[in-house]
Amino acid sequence: MIYFSRIASCIVLLFILSSDFASGKTLTEKAVYAERKSLYLKTSALTGVPWSVIAGCDQYARNIASFKRSGKTDIPLISLNFSKKAWTGLLNPDENDDDPKTIAFFGGAGKDGNGDGKASLENPEDRLFAFAERIAEFGPGEQNYRIAIWDIYRRGKAVDLIEDYARLFEAFNSTDLYSHAFPLPLRSNYDYKSTWGERRGWGGLRIHEGTDLFANYGTPVRATAYGIVEMIGWNKYGGWRLGIRDIQGNYHYFAHLNGYAPHIRKGSITKPGQEIGYVGSSGYGPKGTQGKFPPHLHYGIYRDNGRTEFSFDPYPVLRVWEKQEKAAKH
Ligand SMILES: [Zn+2]
Repeated sequence: MIYFSRIASCIVLLFILSSDFASGKTLTEKAVYAERKSLYLKTSALTGVPWSVIAGCDQYARNIASFKRSGKTDIPLISLNFSKKAWTGLLNPDENDDDPKTIAFFGGAGKDGNGDGKASLENPEDRLFAFAERIAEFGPGEQNYRIAIWDIYRRGKAVDLIEDYARLFEAFNSTDLYSHAFPLPLRSNYDYKSTWGERRGWGGLRIHEGTDLFANYGTPVRATAYGIVEMIGWNKYGGWRLGIRDIQGNYHYFAHLNGYAPHIRKGSITKPGQEIGYVGSSGYGPKGTQGKFPPHLHYGIYRDNGRTEFSFDPYPVLRVWEKQEKAAKH
């Protein structure tokens, strides 16, 4: 067995665990979610841009910022940000300018959102308002929002992710969508251990990117997060597999299924704990192949860091979710 990617994955995992990914919810976090939602709603009323679109953009910024603030424990209220130059205007001689009139004269993005007469880059409400105004310039409607977001980020993946986040915020009418569930019912018969980085035999030299949870055929498989089904169908390695994108940009990958739960298709919205499929032994061959290995759920997580997607070992978070669910039952 080869473990050469283990060190790198441990480093990545350390700050994911230290950020909001696996932590339990506290009162302060709840307060932050509520405050965020009221700011989104207020900005939406001022600009006409739906709150879910504003929230989606802020969520995208938050996810990417989480890669840069490892070690810090404070959760910023609003993550959307501007450079000083973008805020005050390229040719503005005063890069700390907070006068909306001179900023407008120099073509800066800075605006006064909270009505105190100042366009302050430090003020989350001003930043949120200025950002929503940039989107509003492109006109109303989903298509225009997509164009606006493309213009801002110049990344097709950003447009798709933000659209997903906006859909989730709208569907649940909440900004508190961070809870998780263990992928198998706790009462079922299952067994798993860390298998990250093990070499595997089929389909050439590939490293095992995930955790295998052994269980009986037909054991229900549950969504691990609030998310959207991004991919579903046959793959020669994963068999009947399914991928869910959550609000933090994590892609939850479930493979070797026996089949899917009714009504689950591409674009379906999931809740943690919702049944999405059943344990099987499909894969490692052409469509329909099964029984080449004992039945198990292969579960993996991939994360978007703003440029690319990378996988990390899901084993430690599986342990956390399992423990949290056990504790909640008592
Ligand atoms: Zn596996």
